[in-house]
Amino acid sequence: MEIINRKQRIASLTRKLRRENKTIGFVPTMGALHEGHLSLVKEARQMCDVVIVSIFVNPTQFNDKTDLDKYPRDLAGDAALLAEFQVDYVFAPDEREIYGENFSTFVYVENLTETLEGASRPGHFRGVATVVTILFNTIRPDFAFFGQKDAQQVAVIKRLTKDLGFDTEIVVHPIVREESGLAMSSRNARLSEEERAKASIIYKALRETKIAFRNGERNASKLAEIVRQMVESEPLAMLDYVAVVDNETLENVEKIDDTEVLVAVAVNFGKIRLIDNIILNKKQ
Ligand code: AMP
Repeated sequence: MEIINRKQRIASLTRKLRRENKTIGFVPTMGALHEGHLSLVKEARQMCDVVIVSIFVNPTQFNDKTDLDKYPRDLAGDAALLAEFQVDYVFAPDEREIYGENFSTFVYVENLTETLEGASRPGHFRGVATVVTILFNTIRPDFAFFGQKDAQQVAVIKRLTKDLGFDTEIVVHPIVREESGLAMSSRNARLSEEERAKASIIYKALRETKIAFRNGERNASKLAEIVRQMVESEPLAMLDYVAVVDNETLENVEKIDDTEVLVAVAVNFGKIRLIDNIILNKKQ
């Protein structure tokens, strides 16, 4: 496994791989890797000849400087893990390598980015879309792997890939959870032991909506209310939002019909913001 810091080096390397007809799988991350990330890496390893993982804590997607400063960083530990998972290249550029002098071009995906996470984190998806565009242009992967954990990010990346004509297939991997049901996240390490245990209420609440849906409930407000009530029953949890939206357009849904619906939730435990979601569709 080789660690690469330069854009030019990874670009020339992937150019060579394409000439050799090797399929390139790309997993973008911000490091502090856990089993959620590693499940994407495993899938990439199974599907592609060459696996590239990027580790870049992208400053433009943080609207809170403290959050950016506190974001856990452990390149050596991450690299050791990735070597175990037979990754071929780790792309770990520094900030100047991605955002050079006088950088002024941003990618803004309309309609999908102002609600849900976008409402609480202004500019977040502009940062995500911009860095993913730069990474896709540099690496030009055949497949790029993203986690369902960040459902809105998936919708934004799929839109951007179509709209800008990237020749990259987006592969979405299901949410990996702790034994308690809590969705894995690098933020979980910042919860107290008690908060971490209590945070399992989020997935319990989402599962209740699935049960209600299976039992025939199609009214989105009623499904949202189930989540609200369960989360609010936990004194340490502060619900930011629960939304029932179309999984592709992220538009609010009132009555669920045949299309896939996303139940997305954000909950604060102290200063830590956790997100989770579940997809409801007719086949369930
Ligand atoms: P991040 O490092 O937080 O930007 O995450 C990198 C990728 O890992 C994103 O596509 C995330 O959606 C994905 N990811 C993070 N946590 C999980 C999880 N618990 N299950 C599945 N994918 C995840």
